[in-house]
Amino acid sequence: MTKELPGVGESLRTAVRPLPQPGPGEVRVRVEACGVCGSDHFLQAGGFGDSISFPVVPGHEAAGRVDALGDGVEGFAVDDQVALYYISTPPGDRWTAAGRPNISPDLTRMGVDIDGAFAEYVIRPTAALIRPPEPIAPEILAVLTDAVATPVHGLKRIARLRAGESLTVIGVGGLGSSAVQLGKAMGAKVIAVTRSPTRQALARELGADEVVGASATEAIDIVREFGGGFGTDVVIQCAPDARADEAAIAMAGPAGRVVLIGAATEPFSVRATEIFWKELEVRGSRGFVPDDISDAISLYLDGSISVDHLVQHSRPLSEANEALDDLKQGRVLRSVLTP
Ligand SMILES: [Zn+2]
Repeated sequence: MTKELPGVGESLRTAVRPLPQPGPGEVRVRVEACGVCGSDHFLQAGGFGDSISFPVVPGHEAAGRVDALGDGVEGFAVDDQVALYYISTPPGDRWTAAGRPNISPDLTRMGVDIDGAFAEYVIRPTAALIRPPEPIAPEILAVLTDAVATPVHGLKRIARLRAGESLTVIGVGGLGSSAVQLGKAMGAKVIAVTRSPTRQALARELGADEVVGASATEAIDIVREFGGGFGTDVVIQCAPDARADEAAIAMAGPAGRVVLIGAATEPFSVRATEIFWKELEVRGSRGFVPDDISDAISLYLDGSISVDHLVQHSRPLSEANEALDDLKQGRVLRSVLTP
């Protein structure tokens, strides 16, 4: 059984597909858990444009067990627990060779371009499987692959956040909440900005040194003060809001790194002088790479981060529409579907 999206703006519907067969170098995975993410809503709302061929089965934040091996697969056995990387690229891909499959122009995304893990089974190439060093509850392993790996990518690989630096997190949703914890785990001083009182409380719980209950624009002066009067070393902008993009740039201090990770659909504007006077880096952070999943798993296993707040809402796969709706209405940070 799968839950497929028939087209833009439509509800998911139940579809029965034949049991998929792994080709050479591929593995069939029995899905044990799949997170429901903002990108699933983005897909449903038509955010990915005309390139999507419907119907498609969403689901890109998944974990499960190896169920069958294709020809030539080595190093994996039936029943191995695996986290799934949702991107695959063609052999010899230049960006993958450079460790950056997430920005390859030729990438294929599970749950967007091909059928994903709102399903009982998926097919993945072995390069897309990450085996945890010890057993992890399926719901937890699933959210580590995206909700946590995405801010790991943004803070570690893109912003190069170092211990002792100051970090602003704008938006405390699925990504921002993990960014708060990761910032603390990486030794930074963290200020979080969110208008929602429940998310302010969550940010405090997750270790934020200061929490601002205001819009990003209203919070600029408070953040600058927090960063010694000049702004913070790193700003990670997780809110899908163009005004927050502008505020993020205004919040960064000299040599600051601004990481844009929230998918605002509106353009934003900035004066070039705002960027060059401070020699800011304004960088995009797109998803994550397999090493970010491994890092997320290690941080979880050594107790540096908790994901309790991301796995409180579990639903059977048959309730995928309800889970998407919970997310859209802001009732949950994440739902996890279990087939
Ligand atoms: Zn996602």
